[in-house]
Amino acid sequence: MRIDIMTLFPEFVDYILSESIIGRARKAGKLDIRTYNIRDYSQDKHRRVDDTPYGGGKGMLMAAPPIYRCYEAIRDSCLSEDAGEEPPEETGAEPYVIYMSPAGKVFTQEDAKRLSKKKEIAILCGHYEGVDQRLIDEIVDEEISIGDFVLTGGEIPACIVADAVGRLCEGVLSEPECYEKESFEDGLLEYPQYTRPPVWMGREVPEVLISGHHANIEKWRTEAALEKTREKRPDLLEADGEEEQ
Ligand code: SAH
Repeated sequence: MRIDIMTLFPEFVDYILSESIIGRARKAGKLDIRTYNIRDYSQDKHRRVDDTPYGGGKGMLMAAPPIYRCYEAIRDSCLSEDAGEEPPEETGAEPYVIYMSPAGKVFTQEDAKRLSKKKEIAILCGHYEGVDQRLIDEIVDEEISIGDFVLTGGEIPACIVADAVGRLCEGVLSEPECYEKESFEDGLLEYPQYTRPPVWMGREVPEVLISGHHANIEKWRTEAALEKTREKRPDLLEADGEEEQ
């Protein structure tokens, strides 16, 4: 899968997405994550990308033209790389554009799953007071928020989306089971897990986990996942019930 990230701080985004599992997947060619400096697409002699908002008010707004040119560069490169291939089912030939925004729908594991099936996504990171609305209306397919709070920029949110989506792509995690049994996958949180030593600070690992009895272990894990969800996130169980009705 290809993820293109449009930002004013490409080094920052690149650094975060170069470590550990995502970094290894990129090096191994399982994930193609590219960053673009919106400033490179400014035609201003001072490479300006922002301006004051019409109507007054504090702060600066990212202007539409440089972001649009950056988007065009991504689109052209997607089209030329796709040339000769069947257009991917869900994306069409153009990249699916996401704008990280506190006004978007709050990101969930379901969204990560849905987006991981796309061939190409392009993520726009806002900064300052945000982005000219006309740019959003022109190119953005979906606005995603990472929670009901306001950050200084869309870079950390974009890394969150790229990480959550990227780790679901084929070949990124070594075993598909890693994510099949994870929190949220079945509407539950993951059961508690333990590793050596068997006793630590006087706390013992639940005996059943050391028993080697696989059926009992499975049963314990299912019950423990339910209990943990009931305790920490009862809303997940309620949401599940609503869907079934
Ligand atoms: N004036 C805007 C906030 C701008 S914050 C408003 O009131 O809605 C600057 C940038 O940070 C935004 O353009 C967006 O890209 C990013 N951002 C801030 N909070 C975010 C959040 N909760 N989720 C996703 N992106 C966020």
